[in-house]
Amino acid sequence: MRKTFSIPGGIHPPENKLQSLGRKIRSAGLPPRLVLPLAQHIGAPAEPVVAVGDRVLKGQLIGRASGFVSVPCHAPTSGEVVAIGKHRVPHPSAMEAACITLAPDGLDEWIPHAGAGDYRQLDKSTLLQLIRDAGIAGMGGAGFPTAVKLATDKPIEYLIINGTECEPYITADDALMRERADDIVQGVAILRHLVAPANTLIGIEDNKPQALDAMTRAAAGSGIEVVTFPTRYPSGGERQLIQILTGKEVPSGGLPAAVGVVMQNVGTAYAVYRAIGHGEPLLSRITTVTGDAVADRGNFEVLLGTPVQHLMTLCGLRASAVARLIMGGPMMGFTLESAEVPIVKTTNCLLAASRREVPAPAPPQACIRCGMCAQACPASLLPQQLYWFAQGKEYDKLEQHHLFDCIECGCCSYVCPSNIPLVQYYRASKATITTMKRDAVKSEHARERFEARQQRIEREQAEKEARRKARSSKAGAPNQGSGSTDKAAAVEAAVARAAAKKAAADPAADAIARAQSARQSPPPAGGSQTAIAKLEQRLAAAEAKLQLVRDQGGDKVEAFANSVKVLQDKLTAARAQAVAGAPPAADAGQETAGRNGPAQPDGANAETPAPEPRDPAQAAIARAQAARSGNAGPVSAAQQAERLRQRLDKARERYDQARSSGNDQVEAFAAAVSKLEQQLQRLAAAPTVEPGDAAATNTPATVEQPIAQLEQRLLAARTILARAIAEDSPERAACQLAVDSLERELQEARPHPDG
Ligand code: SF4
Ligand code: SF4
Repeated sequence: MRKTFSIPGGIHPPENKLQSLGRKIRSAGLPPRLVLPLAQHIGAPAEPVVAVGDRVLKGQLIGRASGFVSVPCHAPTSGEVVAIGKHRVPHPSAMEAACITLAPDGLDEWIPHAGAGDYRQLDKSTLLQLIRDAGIAGMGGAGFPTAVKLATDKPIEYLIINGTECEPYITADDALMRERADDIVQGVAILRHLVAPANTLIGIEDNKPQALDAMTRAAAGSGIEVVTFPTRYPSGGERQLIQILTGKEVPSGGLPAAVGVVMQNVGTAYAVYRAIGHGEPLLSRITTVTGDAVADRGNFEVLLGTPVQHLMTLCGLRASAVARLIMGGPMMGFTLESAEVPIVKTTNCLLAASRREVPAPAPPQACIRCGMCAQACPASLLPQQLYWFAQGKEYDKLEQHHLFDCIECGCCSYVCPSNIPLVQYYRASKATITTMKRDAVKSEHARERFEARQQRIEREQAEKEARRKARSSKAGAPNQGSGSTDKAAAVEAAVARAAAKKAAADPAADAIARAQSARQSPPPAGGSQTAIAKLEQRLAAAEAKLQLVRDQGGDKVEAFANSVKVLQDKLTAARAQAVAGAPPAADAGQETAGRNGPAQPDGANAETPAPEPRDPAQAAIARAQAARSGNAGPVSAAQQAERLRQRLDKARERYDQARSSGNDQVEAFAAAVSKLEQQLQRLAAAPTVEPGDAAATNTPATVEQPIAQLEQRLLAARTILARAIAEDSPERAACQLAVDSLERELQEARPHPDG
C-alpha cells in the first residue's frame, strides 16, 4: 500500500454527499434551447464557425479554437443555430459573453464519428490533436485545455488522476467512478501513453468506498495504482493532492511539471476516452444537482449549454426554499444571480441551498488575531496579513506574500470567528492585480506602437530630406565648373553686402573702413589737385579768419597768422610735389586746423632739419621749403642790406676791372651796379623788420620772396622737362620753353652777379 503524506491546514466541513448518491447517473434530457459559451475554458475564446440559421449535427464543430491555449466547442445535439451573441454566462460577476444558441430538433443526429482505433499506434502529436479537437478542458473545475497540459516535454514521474472530490455536496466524480470506472481507466491509459509517467496514481478520499472499489477493480493489472487517503478538505487541490500522494511540493508560482507531475481529473480521463475511443467530442458532463431546495437530487449527464433552469425544473426545485443557488460547492462555488445561465464544461454541481444549509452570514467583526485562519490554510499562507493588505489595497505586498498561491479554498473564512469573508477579499484583490497587469501590458504595447510610429515618421522625413538634397545637387551638377565660381562670387558678394550693411549700421566701423580704403587704395587721378584745392580752401578760410581777428582786435592774431603761414607753406609744398609727380603730403587733406582753429607749426620742421633728399630737384624743393619755413634763418632787412652791399661792392669791383681793361661789357657792369644801388635804396626806404616777426617775413617787402618763388617754379619746370625728355614726350619742347622763360625771369630778378 502506497504511503501518503499529510498537508498543512485543512478542515472537516459537513460532507452532505449522500443526498445525491441515492440514484445512478441520469440524463438531463433535451432542453428547448442550448446556450453554448465560446469561452468555457481558460484561454482564448473559440471563434464561431456557424451562422444563425445553420442546421448543425450532434458533435459538429460550431466554434474553433482561436489560439494555442484554447479549445473548440461543438453542437451537443442536432438542431438549428438561432442566435450568436451575448448571453449571461456562469460567472461570479453575472457577466455576459459570446454564446451560440442552438434550438435542438429532437433528432439527436450525430455527425459521422469513430474512434481512433489503437491509440498506441498513434504518435503523441496526433493524440494531442485529437484531444484538442474534441474540445476537452479540465473537468475538475479549472477548465485548462487538456491537450496543452499534456504537451509537456518534461520527464514525468507521476501521472496523477484526481478522484478526490473533496468539496461538500459534490458527487459527480464519485458517481462517474462508480459507474464508468472502466472507461476512466481506459482514458488514464491513453494519458499514460501520452506522458509516459513512471507512476500512475488515482487518488480517492476514503469517504468514497464504492468508487474506490470500482476504480481498483478497473485498474487492476493495468499498472495504475489507486491510492486512498483520509478525507480532509481541500485535499483535492492540485498542489495538495500532489503533496499527499508524492510528498512533493510545487514551488510558489510553479507548475506541477516542475516537480515531474501531471494531474488530470477523472472526468477528464473519461472525456479523453470518449474522444479517442469513440470519436466523440466533449458534449456533456456529469453534474450534481443537490440541496434542500430540490426534491430530486442526483447526478445527471447534462448536455453542455443546458440552462440551469432546465435542471432545476427537472429536479423539482422549490423556489420558495432556495436561499442561494450555487454553481459548484459551498466552499469554492459562486452564487448564480440567474437560472438562465448554461451548464458548461466546468460545472460539476448545482446547489440549490436552503436557509438551513447556507444561513445568512453573520456580520463581520474585527480581527481578533486568533491565528485560526493561518492554521487552516493548506497553502501555508498568512490569511490575516493578506486581509490587511487587501483592505489597504497594498497590491505589491499581497504579491510578496504569495496571494496567487491561494487556491481560494475558503478554509480561512470557514474558521474565522470574526466571520470575516477573507476569501472574497482575496478574489477581489486577485482580479484587481490581474486587471492592472493586463492594462500595463496594453500600455506597454501602446507605447511600443507609438514609438515605432514615431521612428517610422522620423525615418520617412529623413529619407524625404535626403531625396530633396539629392535632387538639388543633381540639378546643380552640369554647371559645376563655372557654377562653383559664380557661387563663390555670389557668396562673397553676399558677405560683402552683409559687411556693408553691418558697417552702415555701425558709423565707427564705417569710418574705419573708409580710412582703410583710403590708405589701401591708390591715389586717384588728380588727387594732388584735390589736395591742393583743399589746402587753398583751408588757406582762404584761415586768411579770412585772420582778417576777421585783426579787424576785431585781440590776442589771437599771432596764432591765426601762424596758421595762415603754415597753410601757405603746405600749399607751396603740395604744389611743388604735384609738379614733381609726388603724392601730396599726408596731412594735405586734413581739415582739422582750418575747422577747429589755427594750425600749429610743425615742431619737427621747426627744430630738426629734414634729411636732404637724394633727388636734386627734391633737395632744391626741400631747401626752398626750408627757406620759406624759416629753417634757413630769417632774412632781416639789415641782412638783406648787407647782402646787397656785398653784391654792390663786387659789382663795382668788376666794373672798375672792366673799365681799366677796356672790356666791351663795361656798360653792363655799370647797369648792374646801378640796379643794386637802387635795390639798396629801396631797402633802406622800407620799414625796419626784426627777425622772427612772422608777419614781417611774409611781407612783399622782402626781396627774396619773388626769387624763391621763381626758383621753385623753375625747379618744378625742370623736373617736368626731365620727365618729358625721359619719356620722349611731345610736350618736351613746350617744357623746354617754359624752363628757358623761367630762367630768364629768374636771371632778371636776381641781382647781377657782378653787382
Ligand atoms: S482561501 Fe486562500 S488563504 Fe484562505 S485558507 Fe484557502 S488557500 Fe489559505
Ligand atoms: S481567523 Fe479571522 S479573526 Fe482570526 S486571525 Fe484570522 S482573520 Fe483574524
